[in-house]
Amino acid sequence: MAIVIDGKAISRKIRAELKEEALRLKEEKGIVPGLAVILVGEDPASQVYVRHKENACAEAGFLSRTIRLPAATTEQALLKLLQSLNDDRQIHGILVQLPLPGHISVDAVTEAIDPRKDVDGFHPFNVGRLFSGNPWHKACTPAGIMELLDRSAIGIEGKEAVIVGRSNIVGKPLALMLLARHATVTICHTRTRNLAEATRRAELLFAAAGKPEMIRADMIRDGAVVIDVGINRLADGRLVGDVAFAECAAKAAYITPVPGGVGVMTIAMLLKNTLQAARFSYRPV
Ligand code: NDP
Repeated sequence: MAIVIDGKAISRKIRAELKEEALRLKEEKGIVPGLAVILVGEDPASQVYVRHKENACAEAGFLSRTIRLPAATTEQALLKLLQSLNDDRQIHGILVQLPLPGHISVDAVTEAIDPRKDVDGFHPFNVGRLFSGNPWHKACTPAGIMELLDRSAIGIEGKEAVIVGRSNIVGKPLALMLLARHATVTICHTRTRNLAEATRRAELLFAAAGKPEMIRADMIRDGAVVIDVGINRLADGRLVGDVAFAECAAKAAYITPVPGGVGVMTIAMLLKNTLQAARFSYRPV
């Protein structure tokens, strides 16, 4: 039976550490880490995420500023707002909650954020730094996954790692982070010919496809570490991951639950990036 990795407990510990570090930064340098979150439109899931971010900031002693804009906001107005936040000395991290309304270019918005304040790690500057092995702000979800592995003392070097999903926010940056830690990495997607053959090779398996319970027990190897990134809301209201938890837990060595696994780590990493930005705010990149 697998050990269930307790993301909630790990995330709580990290947030407590960050709170202490933030206090020290305030005492020593008079800096309070500040995060600005911009929400455009009324997407209900986004509203929940933004509230969680506000609460996490408050708990850790960070300044948080949420800017709620109507769905009809123009791209130009949003870019102007980002410029003013780039220049705002109280704000060290800027996050634009996705998805954005269709008339606003996600690329234009991402690139308008000062890379030093890009605490989501999505700006091409930060993506490029990760690619070249010298990361600055790292994408929060994959960074959270690496923390889960490290804090559970799960080795990465030399391991066969398989990722299902190749998105810019999870699969691809996770592959680069694992590669930097000397794993042998395979990335699978919808055109992968024999998915189960690939996943059965995995000593470290990461499911980030957004398909409820698609990873079944016969797709994993005995003693695998199974990290479930998926968050899927079923018609009956239940929240499930991309992994069929009960049957895979019977075969794996470690497994993450949904909820309470990877998901809760993302905000902790957002705070970590914001603290890093605040600490180095006096330094040019
Ligand atoms: P995307 O939809 O952007 O990407 C999904 C990826 O999975 C694509 O690369 C797709 O392949 C691949 N895929 C989909 N179905 C299959 C399949 N049947 N077989 C093989 N590959 C498949 O999703 P995200 O990366 O944004 O998110 C993935 C999941 O993680 C979602 O459930 C999301 O809710 C969750 N998530 C959780 C976060 C958190 O914990 N905080 C943060 C971000 C996401 P192709 O490229 O060929 O289309």
